[in-house]
Amino acid sequence: MTTQADAVVIGAGIVGAACARRLSERGLHVVVLEREPAPAAGSTGRSAAGVRVQFSEEVNVRLSSSSIAEYRELPEAGYRPIGYLFYVPHAQWSAHREAARMQQRLGMPVEILDTAAATRIVPADPDGFAGATWCALDGVVDPHGITMRWLAQARSSGAMVKLNCAVRSIERHGERWRASTAGGEFEAGWIVNAAGAWAGEVAALAGLQVPVQPARRMVYTTAPLAPAPVYPLTVDLDTGLWFRPERDRLIFGMSNPADTGFAEGIDWTWLETVYESALRHFRWFETLSIDRRACWWGYYETTPDHQPVVGEMPGAPGWYNACGFSGHGVQQAAAIGRIAAQEIAGEPAFIDVAPLRIERFAAGAPHPERLVV
Ligand SMILES: Cc1cc2nc3c(=O)[nH]c(=O)nc-3n(C[C@H](O)[C@H](O)[C@H](O)COP(=O)(O)OP(=O)(O)OC[C@H]3O[C@@H](n4cnc5c(N)ncnc54)[C@H](O)[C@@H]3O)c2cc1C
Repeated sequence: MTTQADAVVIGAGIVGAACARRLSERGLHVVVLEREPAPAAGSTGRSAAGVRVQFSEEVNVRLSSSSIAEYRELPEAGYRPIGYLFYVPHAQWSAHREAARMQQRLGMPVEILDTAAATRIVPADPDGFAGATWCALDGVVDPHGITMRWLAQARSSGAMVKLNCAVRSIERHGERWRASTAGGEFEAGWIVNAAGAWAGEVAALAGLQVPVQPARRMVYTTAPLAPAPVYPLTVDLDTGLWFRPERDRLIFGMSNPADTGFAEGIDWTWLETVYESALRHFRWFETLSIDRRACWWGYYETTPDHQPVVGEMPGAPGWYNACGFSGHGVQQAAAIGRIAAQEIAGEPAFIDVAPLRIERFAAGAPHPERLVV
């Protein structure tokens, strides 16, 4: 049997949920197809849950600040403005300050600090750092809570959410798309590709090329600490280390640029490199012990310029990409849901997403996002 819909959303992570909610509240009949037995089982449920307005590209500042504004009003989001503190080495200071000024111009309460002020927030050996930036609006949310809330809203507007329903093939049937799964076929005028790290694979099912690649990322967790740590989410741009409190523990990580593809499990060897990097500026890391059972891993969904791919696919009418968030999808999902629904309805997007069109890759993607953690 073939189920007819206005839009089929592939993926029930935070982005798919955002799109499904916004499309269905406009009266479209939406079907969400999710391979896993539960929503948010991809990257969404494995993220570090940070939200921040401190980006180098204006479009990312706008997407995140708009999403944070929405999360503030959503009890299920559990928004906690613990702040983000970036420690910045000399080589990056000039470009970083320029980005901070751009954020300030956009109305963001970002502060530029000297190292003495920064070390009063998070103790560090400032040798090699030129300064820091701080934004009290940045913080953390509950990505699972947000996803479940939006899917419930989508369902109450008539959407169907099909779990255990992997899309295996996608074909064009006249003016419509047909997605085939073990649970039946689904036909719609619009496909929304919200398949996260698998978005490139899903596009390939339809013979399309979307440059999204998985990159495994680790989240290491300490044993409980007494007293509980009260730091903001702290990023060391010298090494790429980040850490933040999670209840009475610290969680931390550092991207391994060589870790690409669908590798699985926790890389314990990488932990050694992370520790060594941490000790460079945060000597107090040597007192921390790891709770191996509390650590986890997941995939970033990376693009060549660390910017998302948003919009209708050229040459494939009705195929809408909402993917490639490169580790920033939680903090951008709320805005992306609104934008996808606006564009699918033929309206202009409330944020200019021209820099996120897939066509930019043909031009060499000249504006990479630099503040990738
Ligand atoms: C360790 C880590 C830390 C992170 N930290 C942050 C952070 O601090 N802040 C932030 O904003 N972001 C962070 N991220 C990134 C964030 O998690 C992602 O950008 C976001 O979750 C993407 O959401 P999504 O809905 O697009 O993808 P996903 O949550 O991955 O959802 C995609 C869904 O598509 C489904 N799917 C795939 N293929 C198919 C198919 N063929 N048929 C049906 N379904 C399919 C998958 O099962 C999955 O559920 C982090 C990620 C990781 C791994």
